[in-house]
Formats: sequence, C-alpha cells, structure tokens
Amino acid sequence: MQLTMLGVRGSTPAPGAAYVRYGGHTSAIAVTADGDQSPSLVLDAGTGLRNLSALLQGEPYRGSILLSHLHWDHCQGLPFFVAGDREDAKVDLYVPLQDDMSARDLLARLMSPPVFPISPEGLRGDWSFRGVSVGKTQIGRFAVRATQVTHKGGCTLGYRIDDGSSSVAYLPDHSPTQGITADTLDLMSGVDVLVHDAQFLEAERPMADDYGHCTVEDAIKLAVGAGASTLVLFHHGPARTDDALDEMIAEAQSPVPLVMAVEGTTLNITRAGVVSDRPIGKGAR
Ligand SMILES: [Zn+2]
Ligand SMILES: [Zn+2]
Repeated sequence: MQLTMLGVRGSTPAPGAAYVRYGGHTSAIAVTADGDQSPSLVLDAGTGLRNLSALLQGEPYRGSILLSHLHWDHCQGLPFFVAGDREDAKVDLYVPLQDDMSARDLLARLMSPPVFPISPEGLRGDWSFRGVSVGKTQIGRFAVRATQVTHKGGCTLGYRIDDGSSSVAYLPDHSPTQGITADTLDLMSGVDVLVHDAQFLEAERPMADDYGHCTVEDAIKLAVGAGASTLVLFHHGPARTDDALDEMIAEAQSPVPLVMAVEGTTLNITRAGVVSDRPIGKGAR
C-alpha cells in the first residue's frame, strides 16, 4: 500500500514562508492499493485534496473518499477537488453517520447556501453520498474497520485499512487521555503504520485536552501499546513552523520508528513499516 500525503495540517491551513517544507494544507491522504497505479481511496478531504488533481495528471478521480469526521479541516477540499468535480469523475463519499441524518444531509450542513454557494448535488460527475458507522466494510480493494474515537464536537471515527498486503490505522483527531475504548485499542493492534494526531506537545497539555486532541507523547504511547511498526505524526498544529516541527521530531523519544508527515511525500508501506519515501512530483503543490 502507498500513502501519499496530500495535506498534513490540523485545524486550518497554514500558508506562508515558515510552513513550506512540511506543507500548509489540511488533512487528506491518498491511498494506493498494492499493485495499483493510482489511488482509489482518500482519507479525509481537507484542503490537501486539491493536490490529488495534480497527482492524477489530468485524469478524473474514480474512487472513494472516507471522512473521519465533519470538521472543516477534513472537508473543505471537497468543492475544490477539480479531478472529482467533472463529468467523467465517479466518487463514493463516506460520511460518519450521526444525528439520524443521511450522509447527504450531513454534508449539506457545511456545503449549501448560505454558507457555501453550492450543495452536494452541485458537484459534477457521478457522486454518491454514503454513510459509514462503527464496524467493518469493504471499500473497493480495501477492508475497512471503523471505531468511534474520543474527539470534540460530533462523531469521529478512527479507521484501519487493509489491502491484503499491509495495514494502516488512521486516527487524525483523537484525545485518548479522555477515554479510549477496547475496540479502538484493538483497531490499532499490530498495525504496520499508525497515522496519528500529534498536534500538541506535552507542555501544551491543557490545550490538547480542551481542543480534543493529543500530544506527541500520547501518540507514541499508543503506538508502543499497539505494537505498530511505524508511527506517522500527523495533523500538525497550524502555528507549528517548519523549524518547530524539526525540533519536535528531534526531541521526540520513541522506541517505535517515527515519520513526520510531510505534504507531497509518498510512504510505501510493507509489513515491516515504512520502507521508502519519495516526492509525488513537480506541480503537486
Ligand atoms: Zn482536524
Ligand atoms: Zn476534528
């Protein structure tokens, strides 16, 4: 499996000279199944989703998008996804179900007038809006398992994705110190790569708890407990400059190999963890 980091920020985009090395777009990861040439699944649809259009080099997107939750930083790329907003695109969008509402109506809460010019139906191409809940489901070539995770404001799902050759757990927004279920611990157990919320430092603990996130130290503890082969630190704070992120990784003490999520890089995943890392190509930013 390959993970292409389209956007690695949390909360809100971070433009500017101090953020160019790690990238300023919000959460989105393209997933390519083993042996496939292009991604058929995207985890979250933050502003980083725009990078996927460049990666597809003029081709339409024909695949699925799986949202962890409906916060802006995980959805705002949707209406700006050029490769998905065209007549020959085909996109199955999975929305965590809540409040007895349909997937379409949940999405319309953040994408319809007066808060946005178009409604979900305004996206061109063949879009379907599907609900996802706790449990197991198959999405194309990927076996997907979902559990509910602790985070502030609405239902947030954590996912485990398996393509038969490797496995990834994706928990971009998570506050484990405020409660973690046995199901979620099991979700991460023995995973090849854990992509996890690492928005805060231990010195910022009160803010992490208040915002429903976690610290780098929390993420490391979870990765160790789960027996993950590699931990990818994700959902960087929007005010964390490149230099501050360099410092964060330099100071992190972890028995599990750590990778900082960097926008524009692709991680090749095997049973042994992350084996290589290459840029996704010019013009992808
Ligand atoms: Zn977020
Ligand atoms: Zn969130």
